[in-house]
Amino acid sequence: MKYYSTREKSLRISGAEAIKMGLSRDGGLLTPETIPQIGKDFLERLAGMDYQHRAVEVMSLFLTDYSREELLDYANNAYNQEKFDCREIAPCRKVDGNTFCMELWHGPTSAFKDMALQMLPQLLSAALQKTGEEKTVCILVATSGDTGKAAMEGFADVPQTKIMVFYPKNGVSAVQEAQMVTQEGGNVDVCAVVGNFDDAQAGVKRIFSDEVLRETLAERGYFLSSANSINWGRILPQVVYYVSAYCDLLASGLQMGDKVNICVPTGNFGNILAAYYAKRMGVPVGRLICASNSNDVLTEFLRTGVYNRNRPFHTTMSPSMDILVSSNLERLLFDLSGENDGEVRGYMAALSQDGRYEVSEAIKEALREQFWGGFCGEEETSATIAEYYKKRHYLIDTHTAVAANVLEQYRKETGDDTVTVFASTASPFKFCDHVLSAIGETPEGEGVGLLHQLNKATGEVIPERLAALEKKERRFNQTAEKAGMDSAVMSFLK
Ligand SMILES: *Cc1c(COP(=O)(O)O)cnc(C)c1O
Repeated sequence: MKYYSTREKSLRISGAEAIKMGLSRDGGLLTPETIPQIGKDFLERLAGMDYQHRAVEVMSLFLTDYSREELLDYANNAYNQEKFDCREIAPCRKVDGNTFCMELWHGPTSAFKDMALQMLPQLLSAALQKTGEEKTVCILVATSGDTGKAAMEGFADVPQTKIMVFYPKNGVSAVQEAQMVTQEGGNVDVCAVVGNFDDAQAGVKRIFSDEVLRETLAERGYFLSSANSINWGRILPQVVYYVSAYCDLLASGLQMGDKVNICVPTGNFGNILAAYYAKRMGVPVGRLICASNSNDVLTEFLRTGVYNRNRPFHTTMSPSMDILVSSNLERLLFDLSGENDGEVRGYMAALSQDGRYEVSEAIKEALREQFWGGFCGEEETSATIAEYYKKRHYLIDTHTAVAANVLEQYRKETGDDTVTVFASTASPFKFCDHVLSAIGETPEGEGVGLLHQLNKATGEVIPERLAALEKKERRFNQTAEKAGMDSAVMSFLK
């Protein structure tokens, strides 16, 4: 299986090279040249396997330059009982007769990013070997809160790697910030950026495309890569859990071949893109329901075919979805355009020039058929947390609540009551203050101390690693203006 860029189809590189590069030099996203097709027999076979073996089966279809032994080794390292606090890894909890919630936050940092970021460093480390790379890779991450921590946790002290994380100074929760600035490891660095997530992401993208900086770093023995969800090594491990969810539902009474809808709280469009790929592979999926918070750029896009980032940016209680430029949408456009790299180049040029583009009628039609977009404001998010807690005794975080709310909107508007899996992307303990307020408590104090209050109020157990944060020392204090991000990188990679 070869990979090419969404902006340049003539390129052909291996899976290992795609993972090593992160982003294509032409600014496009590296994408498999074909989507492997699976059938009922494949799903039946996987239904009898544990999560680790399901991961090997799905990933080996895309990464033909990795052996099954390698992949099994990585899956066992990534998804084990030391790192995850539940045996099923990504359990699907039944919420009601036709609704399941897939909990993706049982990993070391209590967010779904662990599902991919416990895997990516191993894929990347092997990729360096496979491609004979001698330089050290430096991973640059722009994070809206969860990716940064999950990436550092995955890369800490991995040989031949360094990792630097940029987060928006006032755009992450207290627990998220504490998780990042206390990160251990000799190869990590953290820097707050004055601005929002899009500023941090734009800064990282600019550093990536700076040829002079690239050469200087090469002389120092470094090259840059990405662990953001633009890296194919992030998307692929996420495809696994959608395939796995279907297998789990078969055990809960779903008939093989029956369609399920999938609802995903969306920011950079990575998680829902993985669901789309699972559908494209042949998993019986009906509608993909894309849930946004007040930053409703994707809702508008899915309804009108116009992507317009010229709009106010809202800082919300679901900060990991506070995004106006959803990078992974480019892969969807590439696929829906019939892999037309010229067409994609046109959209992306318009986006960077005017902050806006409008897709073709053919793409609009495909979007209407396969997707449904909705958004949920702050009050509705709180109300949904309260409703889930009070009526169903199920405590969910702010991001998950956005998905639960949008799913309800979808059902009301369309009358479609197909069995639906919605993704739960973070532990409620990562967003204690908002969750406490939502269930009618008054948060007392701030930051990590609120973990105990939420525990006392609900009886839910604090994830072990979050409970341990209180005793950890702050290691990082750096803040940079957007324009100063380059020099922060240069001084880290001396
Ligand atoms: C990253 C994140 C999201 C958004 O996922 P995308 O892949 O960026 O769409 C949603 N919820 C949580 C908790 C996250 O950390």
